[in-house]
Amino acid sequence: MNLKKLIRKNILALEPYSTARDEFKGGDISVWLDANESPYPNGVNRYPDPHQRQLKQRLSSLFRIKKESIFLGGAGSDEAIDVTFRIFCEPGKDNAVAISPSYGVYKVAAAINDVLLKEVLLNDDFTLPVERILDTTDGSTKLIWICSPNNPTGNAFPKEDITRIAEAFDGIVVVDEAYGDFSEKGSMLAEIDAHPNVIVLRTFSKAWGMAGMRCGMAFAVPEIIEYFDRVKYPYNMSSIIQEELLRRIEEGTGNHIPEIVSERSRLAAEIHEAGCVEEIYPSDANFLLVKVTDADAVYDYLIGNGVIVRNRTRMPLCHNTLRITVGTPDENDRTINLLKNYGK
Ligand SMILES: *Cc1c(COP(=O)(O)O)cnc(C)c1O
Repeated sequence: MNLKKLIRKNILALEPYSTARDEFKGGDISVWLDANESPYPNGVNRYPDPHQRQLKQRLSSLFRIKKESIFLGGAGSDEAIDVTFRIFCEPGKDNAVAISPSYGVYKVAAAINDVLLKEVLLNDDFTLPVERILDTTDGSTKLIWICSPNNPTGNAFPKEDITRIAEAFDGIVVVDEAYGDFSEKGSMLAEIDAHPNVIVLRTFSKAWGMAGMRCGMAFAVPEIIEYFDRVKYPYNMSSIIQEELLRRIEEGTGNHIPEIVSERSRLAAEIHEAGCVEEIYPSDANFLLVKVTDADAVYDYLIGNGVIVRNRTRMPLCHNTLRITVGTPDENDRTINLLKNYGK
């Protein structure tokens, strides 16, 4: 991989903003007059560590990856998506390729950055059209976006397919593993040294149960993460979040992955019986994509009964589908009963 050829020229030439805390090289300081902060302690009067060193140290052992391979986004992995476009894609000139249907933020982030996103329809059975993806790239394609497990289809793609794309493509392959913790299909995380053009996205929003925290991660070889550090906002994660995340990781606030995975099977088996349900697609995530007789009508019926799901009927290949998040057993019971009683 020729990384320098992939990075936008202005980003290559960029002199990153140097914070007061970057310029502090250590020493026995007891009076901090370098950052125009308030001197009066209230818990948050000091700027946070712009490099989130303590948190990255902890995540490094948690994910078994060197800390130089971690980027943290204080606006979730959505931030990592935007920063990726800003590092690699020359507005109005470069393009990116993504699968369709998939997570909507790639398209919005591409549009905001004035980057053409070429969408490649999945195969009818939602498998990855490896050759069509590769054929869609051209000399100006910098990024390929693969969401696995994919939202909204729920399936994870075989690692061999993703690896094949990474090996055949000269640019960057971003693998969004927001739902990776629910899948047994294997992560690309362990592959980034062998495939240095791969960036893996993870988030604390789903399996970790901290969507409100807004913390997402990008993992890549240190040579790529360096550019994330240049392009990100200097203080992109508040001290409150850095401390709270560390505290919760230490506390091990209970991940509910086994319950959610087992509820996913139960929910699928039960709603299979409902008259309005035509097909339940296999899921490696914490949601089910369900084909119903009339998605708009079933969606309104559920809302009328206090349950909201995501209507995906207007997405490609998803006509008459609803995306249903796996809830607590009680919540799932309610949804099951409602679906079984639809039209009765
Ligand atoms: C939910 C989700 C995210 C998470 O984004 P955050 O900004 O970290 O909350 C990322 N990618 C996909 C595919 C998702 O479904």
